[in-house]
This record gives sequence, structure tokens and C-alpha cells, in this order.
Amino acid sequence: MDQILDRLRQIVGPQGYLSDPADVAPHLVEGRKLYQGKTALVLKPATTAEVAEIVRTCHEARLPIVPQGGNTGLVGGGVPGIGVPGVGMSGADGHNVVLATHRLNRIREIDAANFTMTVEAGCILATIQEKALEHDRLFPLSLGAQGSCQIGGNISTNAGGIQVLRYGNARELVLGLEVVLPDGQIWDGLRGLRKDNTGYDLKQLFIGAEGTLGIVTAAKLKLFPAPHDSATAFVGLADPEAAMALFTRARGATGDQLTAFELIPRIGIEMLVEHMGCVDPLGEPHPFYALIELSSSHEQAGLGAVMESLLERALEDGLIQDGTIAASTAQARAFWHLREALPEMQAYEGGSIKHDVSVPVSSVAAFLKEAIAAVTERLPGIRPVPFGHAGDGNIHFNLTQPKGADKAAYLARWGEFNDIVHNIVARHGGSISAEHGIGLLKRDELTHYKSALELELMARIKRAVDPENLMNPGKVLVLD
Ligand code: FAD
Repeated sequence: MDQILDRLRQIVGPQGYLSDPADVAPHLVEGRKLYQGKTALVLKPATTAEVAEIVRTCHEARLPIVPQGGNTGLVGGGVPGIGVPGVGMSGADGHNVVLATHRLNRIREIDAANFTMTVEAGCILATIQEKALEHDRLFPLSLGAQGSCQIGGNISTNAGGIQVLRYGNARELVLGLEVVLPDGQIWDGLRGLRKDNTGYDLKQLFIGAEGTLGIVTAAKLKLFPAPHDSATAFVGLADPEAAMALFTRARGATGDQLTAFELIPRIGIEMLVEHMGCVDPLGEPHPFYALIELSSSHEQAGLGAVMESLLERALEDGLIQDGTIAASTAQARAFWHLREALPEMQAYEGGSIKHDVSVPVSSVAAFLKEAIAAVTERLPGIRPVPFGHAGDGNIHFNLTQPKGADKAAYLARWGEFNDIVHNIVARHGGSISAEHGIGLLKRDELTHYKSALELELMARIKRAVDPENLMNPGKVLVLD
């Protein structure tokens, strides 16, 4: 083993691996600290050729590889040495290397005429957005972790975020990929084509695969015209039914100009005001809120007037209780801050049991009603904080512990509440992972909600592409 590790260190040179335990430590956990991992070595290659050489060497030595991007994942997908059959979840197995893509961070090309951009896997999402804007183009993938997550991680988790309803998730934003396969071969699929009907769409296999089929080293991304006009509103609503009726109306009336529709519950605003010093944007409290954004590439699209007329009519019809339109970019940012700070803020109130689920948009209100009733019946005093991308049917159905409850005892009931919520999701034809993926956290849960045939097809693909099970073993699925 020592010889192999020496060989891997030689491939990347002194800048390309970590030896100080303090530098290695952040690569062994993710933000929620649900799992503690262990690894023999953290490698940081700088080129695709180095990645390929590492993978070839590991393949020969049958040494598993755990890819990592910005490590902002929330389901344990990038934590090394855990969940491997025969080893368990304790992190006792260090028989693996972490391959972190931070140094694969070049923007290789921007083709403004083709509306595409070729980037390496370690480019930070926010950097990609900024570069696109410099060329009067938009890369629309946008999420709370965009200052630290990397495009390789976004692609490998098929990330969603706040503009999916207009532009789609990562899967719809990738035209081509470069991938190092589990035996070290480099697949160059960096095509910039909108139309390419030449057999199986191989890139889609790697998008959302969470590092189990290969290492994404570069991507050709779709760009769009940059927005030059926008309008952002914050409205107060009686209940989720009203929110979703407003969404249907807004989408119908504004079409593709509707780029975000986020749901926020009153309890979320109260927590933000108490713990983060945020200002309640509306005078009176309302049970629910929607954050709505319209945008257009036309400079004078008149979106302020469009939003005003939408809200006026909704108020007249009793669909909304109150609303305000941001008068400046700073005010629009302040509205967005309320939405983006929601996940972080829950930690101040003790334990939070998370669900990242989706249902058809037409079932969001019914799902929320049933799920809130069911969890409250099971544990009176539990505090549901359902928020998220309601316009995509995606709700982060988070459950804050009852006031004064014992945090550890509450969190020990994680699986029990997952069962309640996921069964309701399944009844509505929904998904138990809308955007964060499966990783380790939902791996066993997945077996209850996917058909045997789907699970078997996934296993067959994994065996065909990675017969030695060396790429992120134990994540997403377990092979017999
Ligand atoms: P990592 O966490 O490093 O890795 C994630 C998975 O991808 C792991 O399984 C890893 O092995 C694999 N992987 C990473 N890089 C590669 C590669 N190059 N090749 C192959 N496999 C690879 N997610 C959303 O979808 N929408 C949101 O709105 C959203 N909001 C968030 C807000 C906050 C505050 C936080 C902390 C997270 C949020 N997330 C969200 C989750 C997370 O940011 C996304 O899943 C993101 O896409 C992960 O990117 P990353 O670079 O951090 O990947």
C-alpha cells in the first residue's frame, strides 16, 4: 500500500496532495457532520492527464477512489471510507483515496456565439456565473452554496436551485462532458451541440451519478442571454393552496419570465428575525410567503409593471394578503437573503430532521397539508419549516424539534419521520430526493421507493461501467 501511495504522490507532485492531518480533516466530513470518514490520502490533481494517471494506478491496485468537489453535499456522498459493504458507517476503513478537484479550475473556452462555455470540474459555480456575465451571457444554475460548490459536484449531483422552473437543473444545462472512466481512460464528450441524435446520450449517465461511474473533469455548459430587467416581490399568503394558485396564475400570465417562485413559512421569518437580525418585509404576519422573481433579457421589458399588475389582481381576488415589490437591487437582495439564510438558521433552534422531496407541482398544497398534519399528530409540538422551490414541486420539508426537547433523542427519530413523510410523498407520485442526491443518507431508503427493476438496471449500469466497484463504492447503491 505504501508503494502505491508514493506512486500517487509522484503523479501529482508536492502541490498535489495533503499530508498535514489538519488539512486532511475537512475532507473527512461534510457540513452537516452526519458521518466521519477516513482516507489514506487526499490528492489534488491539476490536469485531466493527472486524474487519468491516478485512476489507472488505483485501478491496477484495486484502490477505491472518492471524488470530491466543494464538499457542500448534504447526503454523505463525498465522505470517504464509509458505507462500504463489510465496513459499515463508522469510517473505520481508510482503504481509499480522495480525489479533490480544486486545482482543475480553468475556464477553457467561452463561445459567446454558440452560447457555450467549457469549464474544468473544479471551477466554483459563482466564478462560472461571473465569467458568463462578463460576456453578456447567463449561466443560470444558482444555489445557496454557489460560492464554494464546484461545477463537477453540481453535475455529479444534478444540482437544482432557484431557477429550475425556467432553465432546468444541471442535467439540462450540460451539452458535453469529459470524464475519466474507472479504468483510467479519458472519454472526450465535450461536444457543443444542441442536436446530436447518435445513439445513447452517454453524458446523462454521469450526470447525477454522484461519482459512482467516473470522474467528471470538464464540461461544456449551455449559456443564455443575460438578464437586463427583473422584478422581485415578497408576498404574504394565507396557506399553501393560495401560494400554488398564485404560482399557476403567475406562470400562465408571464410565461418564461417567471424565473423563481420560492415558498417560505411564517416560522422561518420569525426565526430569521430572532436569530439573524433580519427585517420582516411585510408589516403584518402571514402564515406563508412567496418570493417571486421575473426576469428578461430585454432592457425595457417593463417587468415592474407586469409584477404590479399580477399582485394587484391577486390582491383583489383574495389570493394574496399583502405584498411588496423590491424598489432597488439592494432590497431584492435582502428578500433573497431571507430565503437563502433559512437552512442555516434552523440550527439555532436545536435538532432539525430534513427532507428534500418533490411532488408534482399540482400536488404541493395537498402534500404539505397531509405531511404537516401527520408529523404533528406523531409528535405534538414539532415545528415544521417547509420551504423551497415550490415552483418546481420541490419542498425542503424540515422539522425543527419541539421547544425544550432533548436534541439527541429527537434526532434519533430521524428514520421514523422519514417514513411518515416519504410515504406521503410516494402516494403523491413524488421523489424522496429532489435535488441533494442519495449518497449514503438515502441509500437504503431508496430501495423502498424505487422498483426492483429500476434498482436492477442501476446495478447493471454500475457493473458495466465500473466492474471492480472502485468509484465511490457504497454510495447511491450497494452491489450484491
Ligand atoms: P461535493 O459535495 O464535493 O460532492 C457531491 C457528490 O458528487 C459526491 O458524491 C462526490 O463524490 C461527487 N463528485 C464531486 N465532484 C465530482 C466529480 N468531478 N466527478 C464525479 N463525482 C464528483 N443543492 C441543490 O441541488 N440545490 C440547492 O438549492 C442547494 N442549496 C444548498 C445550499 C447550501 C447552503 C448547501 C450547503 C448545499 C446546498 N445544496 C443544494 C447541496 C450542494 O451544494 C449541491 O449538491 C452541490 O451540487 C454539490 O457540489 P460540490 O462541489 O460541493 O460537491
